[in-house]
Amino acid sequence: MNIHEYQAKELFANFGVAVAKGAAAKDVSEFEAAVASLNGSHVVVKSQIHAGGRGKGVFKDGFKGGVHYAKREEAVEIAKKMFGNILVTKQTGEAGKEVKTIYFTEGCDIAKEYYLSIVMDRASGKDVVIASCEGGMEIEKVAEETPEKIKKVFINPETGIQPYQVRELAFFLGFGEKELQKKFAALIKGLYKLYASKDCSLVEVNPLILTPQNDIIALDAKVSFDDNALFRHPDILEYRDLSEENPLEIEAKKFELNYIKLDGNIACMVNGAGLAMATMDIIKYYGGDPANFLDVGGGATEEAITAAFKILLSDENTKGILINIFGGIMRCDVIAAGVVAAVKNVGGLKIPLVVRLEGTNVEQGNKILAESGIDITTASDLDDAAQKIVKIVSK
Ligand code: ADP
Ligand code: MG
Repeated sequence: MNIHEYQAKELFANFGVAVAKGAAAKDVSEFEAAVASLNGSHVVVKSQIHAGGRGKGVFKDGFKGGVHYAKREEAVEIAKKMFGNILVTKQTGEAGKEVKTIYFTEGCDIAKEYYLSIVMDRASGKDVVIASCEGGMEIEKVAEETPEKIKKVFINPETGIQPYQVRELAFFLGFGEKELQKKFAALIKGLYKLYASKDCSLVEVNPLILTPQNDIIALDAKVSFDDNALFRHPDILEYRDLSEENPLEIEAKKFELNYIKLDGNIACMVNGAGLAMATMDIIKYYGGDPANFLDVGGGATEEAITAAFKILLSDENTKGILINIFGGIMRCDVIAAGVVAAVKNVGGLKIPLVVRLEGTNVEQGNKILAESGIDITTASDLDDAAQKIVKIVSK
């Protein structure tokens, strides 16, 4: 689960991480009061969407920049231009995202920008702090072009971040001086505590800044959480913004289906994440484009299968469906019954369907499909199935 920058900054503040003072507004009527609550001659007006690259983003109506450093008298006007407007950034895709919240923060003088993040490193089984003096830049680009400018410090999650590791990072970033070291230590310890105690999958600060007054401040904040641990954090769930999430993915979660919407036009219903990946790969291999990743899992009920199939049908890009099931714990007859129920429910199937069933109760499954009256193209194996659906859809 992702949250907005202003929410992430609230968490930062709770964990003793220095942030600029700010106020969020969800309606134009709140703009004046939000700006009035801040000090200083300049205010930064920040679009709140679940995507990065806002600063360099462009709105659908041509207005440039999802983040503006403005004189305080001009902040409200700028915010009005952003509010309700669609912001397109490198991370949103062409469709962009509507700005429904504006975050006003006090403008900071910047002496230097840095990058800092904490993620889990699967290879080492540890947490890793990633730091760089190249702040405000895309870290992927830095990693590719100048990897020596990035420092990684691996943290044993059982012991947490150690004082020597804090010093190692401080010296790398040039915060060796005593007072700076103290400020940096408070910041990184706070961030790590947040990361560990709230089951985060990512805590990212880009940029972290040093001010001319020698303060170290998190200017931007991105925090993501492990969905599987959210039940432990009702306070974090409060931050959830369903309007930022894909409605089809929300529906899928209700039935515990692993569904991710993609940009292609061939919908896939598969059991098992590995088989789902392989199915997407082979569709690509034969020149098609998958519309989604969907692993219905092993224990899905007929009701869940029905819901899954309806989700596939309600994606308007879907031009054809490929069902690829290797029945094990998941029985082929349950899949077949779910598909038939879903088709009935939506009043008939208007797009081509290719089915490849194999494994537990395959005869019963095929029988249910054959007797359903639904127009189905059957396939003997994965290769055959992928070729057939790609051919049908590209007609
Ligand atoms: P994004 O990463 O989505 O583009 P940021 O919050 O990083 O958004 O803002 C973009 C840039 O705007 C930052 O790199 C920084 O240079 C500037 N900026 C952001 N907040 C402030 C602030 N409070 N004071 C001064 N400059 C800011
Ligand atoms: Mg940023």
